[in-house]
Amino acid sequence: MTHQITPPDTHQSEPIPESARVAIDALLRSGDLFRYTAPQDAPVALLEREFAAMMGSRYALAVSSCSAALFLSLKALDLPRGARVMIPAFTFAAVPSAVVHADCQPVLCEVGDNYRIDIADFEARLGDVQAVIISHMRGHTSDMDAIMALCDVRNIPVIEDAAHSLGTTWHGRNIGTLGRVGCFSFQSYKLVNAGEGGILITDDADLVARAVIMSGAYEHNWAKHMAGEDAALTAAFAKYQNQLPLYNLRLSNLSAAIIRPQLDEVPRRVRDGRAGHDRVAAQLGTSPWISVPAKLPPEERAPDSIQFNLIDMSDDDAAAFAAAAARRGVKVQVFGASADNARAFWNWQFIPGPVPDLPRTRTMLSRACDTRLPARLTVPELDAIAAILLEAATEVMGQAKAYGT
Ligand SMILES: *Cc1c(COP(=O)(O)O)cnc(C)c1O
Repeated sequence: MTHQITPPDTHQSEPIPESARVAIDALLRSGDLFRYTAPQDAPVALLEREFAAMMGSRYALAVSSCSAALFLSLKALDLPRGARVMIPAFTFAAVPSAVVHADCQPVLCEVGDNYRIDIADFEARLGDVQAVIISHMRGHTSDMDAIMALCDVRNIPVIEDAAHSLGTTWHGRNIGTLGRVGCFSFQSYKLVNAGEGGILITDDADLVARAVIMSGAYEHNWAKHMAGEDAALTAAFAKYQNQLPLYNLRLSNLSAAIIRPQLDEVPRRVRDGRAGHDRVAAQLGTSPWISVPAKLPPEERAPDSIQFNLIDMSDDDAAAFAAAAARRGVKVQVFGASADNARAFWNWQFIPGPVPDLPRTRTMLSRACDTRLPARLTVPELDAIAAILLEAATEVMGQAKAYGT
């Protein structure tokens, strides 16, 4: 092995801010871990208020995961059993799983080699669906102007899966506030890390009232979701009292105590993540065998990983590239290459019916690579990752070594 470059550990998390300790210590002493024990202002309720204010939404509901938020969003839309819900064919298996969990049928649409929804294919399938989940996979934003216009004119509700898009904007508006409801994740690989957790945001009082009750606000616990007078919300809670199942997908106060101090860190993580991504993207772009698709003009990204396509490589070359990078200490996943990848749609065999024929997405997945780039990486660490990826491509494609030291 020839590597003189030491790659960073990209799986290590940032430390949780010190200020979380005081809140966690108080919770450990009191044992007050359940969101509905305190008469008001439990950490989970405070998190919801802070998150809604940060995003510019009226309401937020914190739950056990983004998957739970997606499931509750579908349930809150009151879709009929078996309703068809469109999702992009490039997403994480948890998304079609949430659709199946909500007794709906996932309908997959094509995704282009820039990782964004193919709008022509999306439009062609729209006549036959009752709702849409736009999964901003790896934080890549599809053309939301086109998507919202197409869905609004047909009165089709849009759920944004913004699990990986906290801090991303579209025309300056926060991703997650464009559709009827937006869902975020606090799982460890996302921008805010609580191990597990999720939150949904919406301006729709009726929808949030249904989601609050179904999340497990039994009896009159919904009253603890009221922050001041809100006639529309009061009426909605009264309407749905005792009418809906309780799925118990609540978040613990302990998780909220870990999440709240991280909200202040979001602008810094977004800034550093974007700068680090763009630095590595510029270096990868010098290789004839690697292309990093450009963002769409209205989008400002908040990446914590980088995706790029391999050019002129066979399946064997792509595998050799990933192996060469791994030997140098950088983990690269080719989405469509591993046998059981959870982001390859042909592996979602729990969806009723045959595996759909989606040649554009399949081709993209066979050459699309994924490497983590957490916001905490330093410039020398970012440059080490870029140099290793360039060296790996050069090694596989048999050129004289043209890059790096
Ligand atoms: C992580 C992720 C999810 C699932 O989030 P959980 O909180 O783990 O349920 C869904 N969609 C996308 C795009 C994700 O990145």
